[in-house]
Formats: sequence, C-alpha cells, structure tokens
Amino acid sequence: MIVVPLGVASATPTAVRHLPAVALWREGSVFLFDCGENAQMRMLQAGIKRSKIECIFISHFDVDHYSGLIGLLSTLQLQRRDKPLRMVGPKGLQEYIEWNLKFSDIEIGFEIIFIEVEHDTDAAVVIDEEDYIVEARALKHRRFCLGYRFQEKDKPGKVNAELANELGVTKDEDFKALKNGEDITLDDGTEVKSVDIVGHPRPGDSFAYVTDTEYCPNAVKLALNTNILYHEATFSDSLADKASETGHSSAKDAARVATEAQTKLLVIGHFSARYTNPHVLLKEARDGFYPAWLANELRPIYTDPSHERGILTAKVELRDLTKSNDSRGGGGRSGGHRGRSGGGGGYRSNDRGGGNRNFRPRRSSGGGGGYRSNDRRSSGGGGGGYRSRDNNRSDGGGYNSRSNDGGGYRSRNRNHRDSSSSGRSGDNKWNSDSNRSYSSRSSYDDQDRF
Ligand SMILES: [Zn+2]
Repeated sequence: MIVVPLGVASATPTAVRHLPAVALWREGSVFLFDCGENAQMRMLQAGIKRSKIECIFISHFDVDHYSGLIGLLSTLQLQRRDKPLRMVGPKGLQEYIEWNLKFSDIEIGFEIIFIEVEHDTDAAVVIDEEDYIVEARALKHRRFCLGYRFQEKDKPGKVNAELANELGVTKDEDFKALKNGEDITLDDGTEVKSVDIVGHPRPGDSFAYVTDTEYCPNAVKLALNTNILYHEATFSDSLADKASETGHSSAKDAARVATEAQTKLLVIGHFSARYTNPHVLLKEARDGFYPAWLANELRPIYTDPSHERGILTAKVELRDLTKSNDSRGGGGRSGGHRGRSGGGGGYRSNDRGGGNRNFRPRRSSGGGGGYRSNDRRSSGGGGGGYRSRDNNRSDGGGYNSRSNDGGGYRSRNRNHRDSSSSGRSGDNKWNSDSNRSYSSRSSYDDQDRF
C-alpha cells in the first residue's frame, strides 16, 4: 500500500497547502479519501492515474472535503472511462452528485455505484471484496462524519518453491490447490501436503483515515493495529477549546488515538492555516506517540517499500525553499527555515517534496525513487533542517537524520526513549515487530519506510 497525501490543509487552502484528499494506491488500484478542490490536479502531480480510481470515500459534507468531486467526475468522463466507479459517503452524496451532473449537463458514460451511509449509523462495512474490506465509523464532528478503515484480508502464505520442485510439483493447478490449503496427489502417487509447502498466511496491511473529529472511541477502533493512521491534527493543544468547539482534534488528540490504537505509524494532516509551520504540531504529536510524521503533500508513505518504492513517481518538484522564501518575502512561515544554520536537510526537503512551494519540471532523475531522490539530493546540502532550529528537541531531526546519516530511526527512537515520560514501548516495536516489512532493523534506516 502506498498512501499519498494530496492536500493537507483544513477549511481553506493556503499558498502551500491544498484542501483535504488522500490517495491510497494498492496493487494498481487507487482509492481516494475525500476529494477537496484540486485533488485531481494533485493526483496528476503525484503521478497517480485518475483512471485507476476504484472508489472514492467522502468523510462528510463540509465543502473542503468534497469540492473537487464534480471536476474529477467530469475529467473521468472526458477520459472516456468505462469501468464502474464506487462512491461511498454519508447519505446525500448521490443527490449532490446527480444534481450537479444534471445542472452541468454532464452525461456520465460509466456506472457510478453509490454506497451511502445513513446519518445515524455507528459502524458499517461499506466495501467487502475478495481481498480487502472497508469499514466506516461515525466520528465526532459538528455534522455527521465518517472515518474509514481499509483492511487487506490475510494473504496466503508463501510457497516454498524449492521444496515443491524437489517433490515434483510442476503444474499450476497443483500450486493453486496447495495455496488454497488442499493436499494433492501427483501423477506418480506422491502425496504433497499443503502445510509442508505453504507458509503461514500473512496479515494484510491496513490504513485508517480519520479526519474532522474530536477524540472518540470510533477513531481508535478504526485505527486499531493499523500500519498507517492518517489522523487530523488541526490545532495544537494550546487551542484545545477551539478544537472541541469546532469538532476537531489537536495533535495531542491524534497521538492519543494512535497510542490507544497501537498503530504502527501516525501521520498527521488537516492543518489549520494558522500553522504556517506545522512542525509545532508534529512535536506535540511525538510527545504523545512515536513514530509520527507530518503529512507532506505528494510524498508517498509505503507499507512495503522494498516492493513499492518507485511505483509512483511525482511529476513535479519544488524549488529550493530558500529561493522561494526570498521571492515571497515577509510572513512568519519562512523565518524558521531561513534562520537556520544548516543547508538542506530533513523537513525542508520534505516540504519541498510535499509540493509546498513553487513547482518546476522535474529534472531527469537518474534512478527511480521520485521524491526520494529529491530528498537525498537536498539533504546532501548539509545538516540543518528543523533540527538545528529546535535546539531543545531531544528526538533529533526526523526525516532529516534519516536522510543524512541513514541512522535516523534508530537514533531517534533511542533519543525518544530517553526523553519520553510516557513510558510507551512503541519505540521498541520497531525492532521487535515481527511483521514482515518492519522486521528488519536495517530496514528502518531506509527512507520512506512504512
Ligand atoms: Zn475538514
């Protein structure tokens, strides 16, 4: 699974952040969670084909979360899409779409399958396919709002091809039967047991999308043991009153959900426009939960980078932040960056990768890895990043330390453990987790790993 934040703003877009939308890529299909204005454009820039959209999930009807729908549907129509599209959301979605299409005189040539959730629903399975399932749960917002959990079903265990060969298994149908747990008898009478050839089923990956909500138990249920939890963090805890007044979470709330749900990775997004530099939110989240990341627009987050890296290559990159700052002038947002002693590095390159500044065409990049190579290039510029600005931070420079010395996760974990008063054992998880893609210690040293 690859999760790509397309818009991490809340309510109003800013010069550097777009309205809410998150794309989930899985085995060639794309699932879109919310569709703020510009989502289709951001998909294009992220290197995600709109024609691959399988299903769109809308959380609720605050306009920033669905304002990109009609434009996207129009594009799909102009692209002559013919496969059906599923659209999931609170009751009213179908009426909204149909009214708009009629008003604009757009004749859609493909089938739209609406899956609407009644407004008093607490939890519902909205999609149940052969290899994945999607659950919706009501969150706690000013209006009816759904969070989603995308869960892959368990995958069959790996076949020991060498042993199968030795035993004389050659036919495809025999392999298939063995994979399905059936024992077979070969032509020469040899009995081959499935259990001898096929390993244990592997747990499927999972992703939770929780946005526009105060802390609530349903958020925890959605996020339970997920690989990736995308959780809103509109405010910092210093504005907790404002958060609850508007039905939103603080970064501290997001960390609480992540902790209770024991997710493997918390990614926070949906930042209020007042946070020109959302790093303060990240710091707050990390005080309560580790590992936590800021959602960076267009920057992919992988559950299995060894196989997924390079699949999505962004079509844009951003200008050097320093130049960008100079040209924009004024504003508090750049003070931190400019005032830092270091050159390139961590968050700065993420921001850049995140589509947050002026675009320019990608240079032809040797070796895949899209943003990754950008990050690397920029991090080569030397230390710096947020790290040097926040001298009092004990947990190092996040992406920065990873991309610079390759030892980020480890060292960060260690530092965090030292400084954490929460007593969480989450950092140990990194090294003890037996889950396949997290099991190797060295793997945490890679960038973009989740
Ligand atoms: Zn919102």
